[in-house]
Amino acid sequence: MMSYYCDLAVPGVQSLTPYQPGKPVNELKREYGLEHIIKLASNENPIGPSQLAIDAIQNNLKELARYPDGNGFELKTKLAERHNLQTDQITLGNGSNDILEFVARTFVTANDEVIFSQHAFAVYPLVTQAIGGVICEVPAKDWGHDLNAMLARITDKTRLIFIANPNNPTGTWLTEDEITGFLQQVPTNIIVVLDEAYFEYAHAPEMGFTEYPNGIELLTQFENLVVTRTFSKAYGLAGLRVGYGVSNTEISDLLNRVRQPFNVNSLALAAATAALDDQEHIEKSILLNKQGMQALTKVFSDLSLSYIPSVGNFISFDLGREAAPVYTELLKLGVIVRPVDNYAMPNHLRVTIGTPEENKLFIKALHQALT
Ligand SMILES: *Cc1c(COP(=O)(O)O)cnc(C)c1O
Repeated sequence: MMSYYCDLAVPGVQSLTPYQPGKPVNELKREYGLEHIIKLASNENPIGPSQLAIDAIQNNLKELARYPDGNGFELKTKLAERHNLQTDQITLGNGSNDILEFVARTFVTANDEVIFSQHAFAVYPLVTQAIGGVICEVPAKDWGHDLNAMLARITDKTRLIFIANPNNPTGTWLTEDEITGFLQQVPTNIIVVLDEAYFEYAHAPEMGFTEYPNGIELLTQFENLVVTRTFSKAYGLAGLRVGYGVSNTEISDLLNRVRQPFNVNSLALAAATAALDDQEHIEKSILLNKQGMQALTKVFSDLSLSYIPSVGNFISFDLGREAAPVYTELLKLGVIVRPVDNYAMPNHLRVTIGTPEENKLFIKALHQALT
């Protein structure tokens, strides 16, 4: 019975492994009967969204009977001003994952090849396989993208390349010179997606990563480039699902053709638009992240655990042995982090930087779990 419908499914879907999300807080509460739980598993902003976003949601509640603005006029207008773009270069998504899927569906068909790095974000193989595309995973170098090896992997079947900068779950990043050097060598008939989900954290000069590029500023040089950003991470709006892609207008016109007409809901549109006005909140979030990152890396060093330096709001650390038992111990102590064995990193765990209190609880639990 069970294999009957499986055999009927298109081949790409038959072989798909579902995305593994971080464990929800309520699930852990049910399983272990725990009251106090901290979740540092999905790279969410620990202080949540801007109050302006919350107010905007409240103000829009009475309009819920209406369809949202399918063109997202206000959000696009504000994004265009912010980034010095034309509004028709922007494609709005139900999260930036939506955009990743639009690009795959627009440019890739069965048996076309899609290149991405080993240990790269799990959604790239998902959107590729679902449409019968061929996954070309290129071995990583020092946990990060090996751009030369990725270039060498290009064939006349290559249609799309995904680059995560920084990458999740490794936190590794590429400099402006590395990215531009790479893009100069990719033929213009191959689309390159530069996934900048953690842009706000990585780009902050106060973090000291001065060579981290702004992909949107590279669009004028590279016509085959699509840059994706999200409101799920630094903006603290993961639950609402809103992200966007930026490209040349010809590509965004195509992406908008495969988009569902009302893919971004009205509360998400209102909240994201309002959130853009609160730069102070972003700066506060970046500072908190920087302090938390320093606190955690110090603890890893003290515990002689190696870690992968990260410019995101998360960090993957190496237990030097199978990480799963430590993950389970942490769960019992009410701390949810992220196993990354599905990223071929069985000895690592990924932890999201939390509030100072959450970081302290994580550190305490980690000490306990290791003894
Ligand atoms: C979190 C994340 C995203 C964003 O997903 P949304 O759909 O915008 O919530 C995209 N890319 C990477 C690498 C991420 O880690």
